[in-house]
Amino acid sequence: MKIYENIYLVPSFVNCYFIEREDYCILIDTGTSKKASKIIHTIKTNFPEKPLKVILVTHAHLDHTAGLKKLGQLYGSKIISHEKEKPYIMKSEKMPSRDGLIGKTLGIFSNLLSGAEYSVDQIVTDGEIICGLKVYHLPGHTPGTIALEDVETKALFCGDIIDCNKKGDTILPPKKLFALNYNQALISSVKMLQVSKPSAIFLGHGKPIIKPASAIKLYLEQYS
Ligand SMILES: [Zn+2]
Ligand SMILES: [Zn+2]
Repeated sequence: MKIYENIYLVPSFVNCYFIEREDYCILIDTGTSKKASKIIHTIKTNFPEKPLKVILVTHAHLDHTAGLKKLGQLYGSKIISHEKEKPYIMKSEKMPSRDGLIGKTLGIFSNLLSGAEYSVDQIVTDGEIICGLKVYHLPGHTPGTIALEDVETKALFCGDIIDCNKKGDTILPPKKLFALNYNQALISSVKMLQVSKPSAIFLGHGKPIIKPASAIKLYLEQYS
């Protein structure tokens, strides 16, 4: 479903986004493995002639990456992430676990799922521009979380570095429960919104925030 300029959303519990370019398309996050069929359908329906050249991964959490194997193999797409996230995406290292029962439970769960069967082909660094997207390295939710800003449209794809309310008009801090280092994640979210002047924000979970200037102002007043 087209939601903004050249951006398509594949909705469910986790949002995945396509960006349509002149000769190819880009996917940001893959969602779960079940969702791969919806993603394939979106490609067939909207840009059957354009190769899925690149899959950019905001971070390694399974709800954002579990479709990588199927999609990477099917389309031969280049998989790109931050260097600090690469070992967790490829499951060559275990994500450090958080304190508390939920952190430990998630740690055990991610331990069960080892062996990636795909590779991260390219790494990106803070400030780099890749396929027309500016990279922000924003550690805290995970060590190598990135946000991506489309240079032309100023659409900002931010993974789980911020949250939003149900209506999609208020920016909320990153979810404490899922952040590896909540304070660092909060600092990263402030840094991102101080530097970027997005025309729209597309989150890993929840509704898009279109024309977010006043929501950003409120958030920075409260948390910076
Ligand atoms: Zn996450
Ligand atoms: Zn998530």
